[in-house]
Amino acid sequence: MSTTFAQLGVPKPICDALARNGIQAPFAIQAATISDSLAGRDVCGRAPTGSGKTLAFGIPLVINTDRAKPKRPRSLVLAPTRELADQIADELRTFAGDVRITVVYGGVGYGKQESQLKRGTDIVVACPGRLEDLLERRSLELTDVDSVVVDEADRLADMGFLPAVRRILNKTSHKRQTVLFSATLDGDVAKLTRDYQNNPVTHEVGDTTPDITAAEHRFWKVERPDRIDATAHVINDSGQAIVFCRTRHGSDRLARQLTQRGVSAAAIHGGHQQNRRTRTLGQFTEGRIQALIATDVAARGIHVDDVAAVVHYDPPADHKTYIHRSGRTARAGRGGLVVSMILPEQVADTKKMKAKVGIDAPITVPGEIAESTSTHEHTNSAAAQSDQEQARSSRKPNGGNAGRSNSNGNRPTAKTSSHRRGKPGAKKRPNRAGGKSGSPNGNRGNSRGGAGSGQARSRSRSGGRGSNR
Ligand code: ADP
Ligand code: MG
Repeated sequence: MSTTFAQLGVPKPICDALARNGIQAPFAIQAATISDSLAGRDVCGRAPTGSGKTLAFGIPLVINTDRAKPKRPRSLVLAPTRELADQIADELRTFAGDVRITVVYGGVGYGKQESQLKRGTDIVVACPGRLEDLLERRSLELTDVDSVVVDEADRLADMGFLPAVRRILNKTSHKRQTVLFSATLDGDVAKLTRDYQNNPVTHEVGDTTPDITAAEHRFWKVERPDRIDATAHVINDSGQAIVFCRTRHGSDRLARQLTQRGVSAAAIHGGHQQNRRTRTLGQFTEGRIQALIATDVAARGIHVDDVAAVVHYDPPADHKTYIHRSGRTARAGRGGLVVSMILPEQVADTKKMKAKVGIDAPITVPGEIAESTSTHEHTNSAAAQSDQEQARSSRKPNGGNAGRSNSNGNRPTAKTSSHRRGKPGAKKRPNRAGGKSGSPNGNRGNSRGGAGSGQARSRSRSGGRGSNR
């Protein structure tokens, strides 16, 4: 069943150029998306790091890009960091023939970038901050751009670039093709898709297991009567939480008990009418209740972008359930806290489960919770920062659709603090022992390395606006 690039519609000279560089057969995400992209469809692709997304969008882009007039490129690739922009351009150049490619990012002089744009370039690979600067300097315009790729949309979102991305997209041709690639397709990325892609076909490849390594994992040994107070403590100190209970009855009871302790909580489970569930969820997403008490079955059907904390009030049925429950926090690189309440008789099972997930955080007595200091690691590179500064310096008050995105979207730093209400005076957490050194390696390892190795599942569906979730 292995396809070839030729079968996907890639012309022979490009197949040959790829083959000379050792690219013989398409990886899964390439096999899934290239023909749709070549046909001009909007494509929304999710695949893990290292799975070959650059060629997945790059091959059709090079093939479909027409010759540009000076200062009026025809295609645009948006990428979060300069390293990535360079990498993309280098990779495209290996088979681009006489298609002209220019890279644009901050932290270097304008001269070279501006002279290339002036001479005429067909594809611009850009970080959003510098691109906006160049637009302001009238070094180029985007009206002829009829093909846009948003690469690593989740990282662009993490770094606060989505308002800039929206402003940029608003300046391109209305008839453009918009292709988006990301390691995750939820939250702000889903909104970008909804607002800027036209009837996109979604292709997802690889492991959908959430990456829970960014969260801090705690295991608190408690006596049965103390579980409720410990749970209330987590919710009060960390912000909004989803609390998992084993049964419907248990969820209802816990919601009542928390409410009695001054924590606004509501249960959500299959025993409630749909309209009640919708109402509860609405109250939660609007921040009017602090805690959602859910059964595993109910949780599967609810879409909540990111919460500050997840509490395993009752233990998960198995380690996979632990991962899926915990994946509700620390999404898209934000910080998050996961606390498991462990009754004395659950200690042995918990140890086994922790070993399977690959977390070596100890089982302790309930402890201090404070404002998380964690931010997204990959925002720390110098290059990333320099373009972030560009973004900041070129920020404009009125930015097309920007008003629709979240209000601090322009802040390039991680949004950890926006959903976490730590006590100002509280002690910082010692470190992210559970989240970092004791990270669930197995999980991360799978999601990184598994790609393209033949075990990747591919599923595709076609979805209209708003249905791609
Ligand atoms: P992603 O963007 O999904 O993280 P990349 O596009 O950077 O991944 O690809 C990762 C590596 O795999 C790159 O070195 C790339 O050259 C290589 N690669 C991509 N597609 C193929 C292929 N079909 N055959 C062999 N190597 C490939
Ligand atoms: Mg990539």
